[in-house]
Amino acid sequence: MTTESQQVADNLADVVAKISEYEQAFARPQGAVKLLAVSKTKPVSALQAAYDTGQRLFGENYVQEMVEKCQTLEQLSDIEWHFIGPIQSNKTRQIAEHADWVHTIDREKIARRLSEQRPSHLGNLNVCIQINISGEESKAGIAFSELDDMVELINSLPGLTLRGLMAIPAPCSDQQAQQKVYAPLQQAFLELKEGDNMIDTLSIGMSGDMPAAIASGSTMIRIGTAIFGARDYASR
Ligand SMILES: *Cc1c(COP(=O)(O)O)cnc(C)c1O
Repeated sequence: MTTESQQVADNLADVVAKISEYEQAFARPQGAVKLLAVSKTKPVSALQAAYDTGQRLFGENYVQEMVEKCQTLEQLSDIEWHFIGPIQSNKTRQIAEHADWVHTIDREKIARRLSEQRPSHLGNLNVCIQINISGEESKAGIAFSELDDMVELINSLPGLTLRGLMAIPAPCSDQQAQQKVYAPLQQAFLELKEGDNMIDTLSIGMSGDMPAAIASGSTMIRIGTAIFGARDYASR
């Protein structure tokens, strides 16, 4: 094993152990929180190292990069590719043809295009609606007041299956304050889940706020840096 692979394996084991610890601390069932390994900007060797230790869910933010990685790692057919970046409408076809999941649905036009462009032999694309829970802090995501209409729209689209909600809150180092920000999202998720048994995913939690997210009902946390190390944007 190279040092890089060993480092990824060690980091992943630490993150998995932490998730399990927080599940216990916040009375969540063991295994309730899945780990999405966010591999944006990282080489396929790093993804392969994570795969070799058992990781199967990978998150990517840039369409071209995700497509290249899907193609390079095609033989690892049980990888689940999650697109978690902003979506431009001229990139929806590539996403529809390569991703298994999309977490960042916040526009009707994008949802319609992804549904139309999803190849039928791949089955439905799993999607989460992105909610803007920090108000002005971020422009991405819909407001809670728009949620019912977006749910209705997605449920009417034959190529998509709605799986839940996603958010990227403004960074906050105080766990109690972060949980307060997450509370209305958790409430909306639970209401949505009550009426639809395909809803099982609350995509919240990053390297900086794992405990708050797991306490707030996260079912999928998205971790990059703590697994793969810091990203070097200058090299892109
Ligand atoms: C990059 C990214 C992550 C992972 O962030 P880290 O701080 O590296 O853990 C999670 N979610 C989204 C949407 C991201 O873009």
